[in-house]
Amino acid sequence: MEGERNIYDVIVVGAGIEGSATAYSLAKDGKRTLLLEQFTLPHNRGSSHGKSRITRRNYGARTIYANMMKEAFELTAQLETECREQLFVNCEYLEYGPKGGSLVTESKQCLTDYHVPHETFDVKEQRKRYPHIELPDNYEFVLEKTGGILRADKMLSAFQSEFVRYGGTIRDGEAMLDLFPGDTVSVKTTRSVHKAQSVVLTLGAWAAKFLPRLGIKVKLQPEEIKVYYWKHKDNSSRFDHKTYPAFFTKTAAGKYTIYGLPEDEYPGLVKICLHEGSSTDPDKRDGTKNDWVLETMKLIIATHFPTLEKEPTIAETCIYTNTPDKHFILDVHPVWKNIVLGAGFSGHGFKLSPVVGNLLAQLATGQRPSYDMSPFRIHRFFKNKL
Ligand SMILES: Cc1cc2nc3c(=O)[nH]c(=O)nc-3n(C[C@H](O)[C@H](O)[C@H](O)COP(=O)(O)OP(=O)(O)OC[C@H]3O[C@@H](n4cnc5c(N)ncnc54)[C@H](O)[C@@H]3O)c2cc1C
Repeated sequence: MEGERNIYDVIVVGAGIEGSATAYSLAKDGKRTLLLEQFTLPHNRGSSHGKSRITRRNYGARTIYANMMKEAFELTAQLETECREQLFVNCEYLEYGPKGGSLVTESKQCLTDYHVPHETFDVKEQRKRYPHIELPDNYEFVLEKTGGILRADKMLSAFQSEFVRYGGTIRDGEAMLDLFPGDTVSVKTTRSVHKAQSVVLTLGAWAAKFLPRLGIKVKLQPEEIKVYYWKHKDNSSRFDHKTYPAFFTKTAAGKYTIYGLPEDEYPGLVKICLHEGSSTDPDKRDGTKNDWVLETMKLIIATHFPTLEKEPTIAETCIYTNTPDKHFILDVHPVWKNIVLGAGFSGHGFKLSPVVGNLLAQLATGQRPSYDMSPFRIHRFFKNKL
């Protein structure tokens, strides 16, 4: 039998951005913490790899997240100070769409309500500022001065290295095979059995497979997302982050949502992607049928970004894990309160990871969460069935 000494305060399973942020928060708070990861770190099989993510205060009408974004920026700045790396590039953030439409109206409202510096302008001004984007005359633009790019791979590794610096233990290349609830939770892995007072499951797309084994039958849908980098036709650098912002918009016909980031990670290449993809299985991701995504993106590039080449120069792959309402799951298990669930980040969880990490750590240690957790509770999916 293992002695008291070998029982962790908390085991966090899954070292993506949400699990790593949680483990960091726990270790910083003096908790004896183990972070388990099935793959050898770093890896690109989940949702947190890659060089960049967008961050912004603008969350449109989704105030539950807008409430958290001020703190997310502050905590990211703290992490930057601790790891002595630049994690945030303040290139600004632009949302645009038809004048009077919900996208721009809600953006303006959100930024006004939260007193975030921003500007609005029309297509005439857009053509002066960002001449490489082609749009209909009725578009309107909301530019958030505080938004920008997070250097994603650096932020992930900062959480992990600071976690170790605060005394935490990482065991990578070690998958959780099974979990045995109780006053002390046992986690059986490919190498050992570990015990803790509580466990946090941040399994990314693999939550869709594992949570049903704990009786949680929420529909979590992993979706493969293609990440494309496009080169300027005349080979010169035009989407520089000193002059171009990160952006999010709907196409002119309103059918597709796209987002983009100016040149930062790869010189001369701008990242522009479709905000949707095909359903996938994280263990069979490479067989996902996704030709339609590339064809759709090529059409969008030819229509709205005519100065870019017709084919992407680099294609990468990532996964969204969507809940039915696209809101996160941050909760304790309905029966075993020392099993904490962080799942379904639905393609927008990176920027919020410092806050999510604190909240999951609070749930794992019986502290009162610092935000209203009702929008994130798992019971919302079962309301009419219980
Ligand atoms: C293309 C793309 C663009 C995005 N853009 C943005 C953006 O601009 N802004 C933003 O805020 N968010 C963005 N997101 C969303 C954000 O990246 C995700 O919400 C976030 O990375 C989810 O992290 P996670 O920790 O839940 O999942 P993951 O990163 O997948 O981590 C889960 C980890 O758990 C491990 N694991 C699973 N099962 C086990 C097991 N049994 N044992 C041990 N380990 C296990 C996995 O290997 C994995 O490492 C984007 C996502 C994608 C794919």
